[in-house]
Amino acid sequence: MPSLTLGDFELSIFSDGTYPLDGGAFFGVVPKIMWSRKAAADEKNYVTAGLNSLLIRTGKQTVLVETGMGNKLSERMVKFYGQPAQLLSNLTAGGIAPEDIDIVINTHLHFDHCGWNTIRDKDGKIVPTFPRAKYYAPEGEWQYARHPSERDAISYISDNYDPLVQSGQMTLLNGGEEIVPGISVKTFPGHTAHMQAVIVESASRTACYISDLIPTTAHIDLTWGMSFDLFPLQTIESKKLYYAKAVPEQWLTVFTHDANLPWAYVEKDGPHKMVARKV
Ligand SMILES: [Zn+2]
Repeated sequence: MPSLTLGDFELSIFSDGTYPLDGGAFFGVVPKIMWSRKAAADEKNYVTAGLNSLLIRTGKQTVLVETGMGNKLSERMVKFYGQPAQLLSNLTAGGIAPEDIDIVINTHLHFDHCGWNTIRDKDGKIVPTFPRAKYYAPEGEWQYARHPSERDAISYISDNYDPLVQSGQMTLLNGGEEIVPGISVKTFPGHTAHMQAVIVESASRTACYISDLIPTTAHIDLTWGMSFDLFPLQTIESKKLYYAKAVPEQWLTVFTHDANLPWAYVEKDGPHKMVARKV
């Protein structure tokens, strides 16, 4: 479990495991001859994607950003993605019990980002996995998830969030809110219209969980978007806005789906190229 200190905060990566993702879908319009240098594909053209959650200990609260794929996938989805479901056991191995989590933040509500928000209890009832936690997710994302397009309806599993909204345990965000001192959200449209990155600031150091705007270190170049992005041109504009601050201010970028490098500093390497510098 990678960990580091950011100002007064302690940051750790906890994984829900890895899963196979079609390489063509992962890299959009980028030709395989280019992306295959950065991500190895198997005989079915699958590459390995990670499911990295970020745990932040502020000294007062324990905050979990993103809850992976969870364990409630349908049989059909398990055929595509498997169901690694390792987040809880990895948290336990790191000494974190579900009751220890004070706050859960979802950047958006695709199934691979909020899967462990809830579990089924022994009677099959959907209950919060983190019983004491206050949950947060983007309001616009939740509104959209109620009536998604045909294209991405499969990505939304209402059991991951609707019971929490109904019970009042999940608070919906407009973007721009500070959730606890030093931890705030900012909307970066592109992957979805309302996806929010989580910005962590302590003692003038900054980290950002940039979520599916830049899912892996292989996606750091401006035009390397995923075919899952609903608004690919906005992905490029949002990346530019992000780099305009994150590069000069040397933000630590956290990559949700990178199976090898969960965080790095993104730097400019010439006018159009970016590089990820290891921590
Ligand atoms: Zn997504």
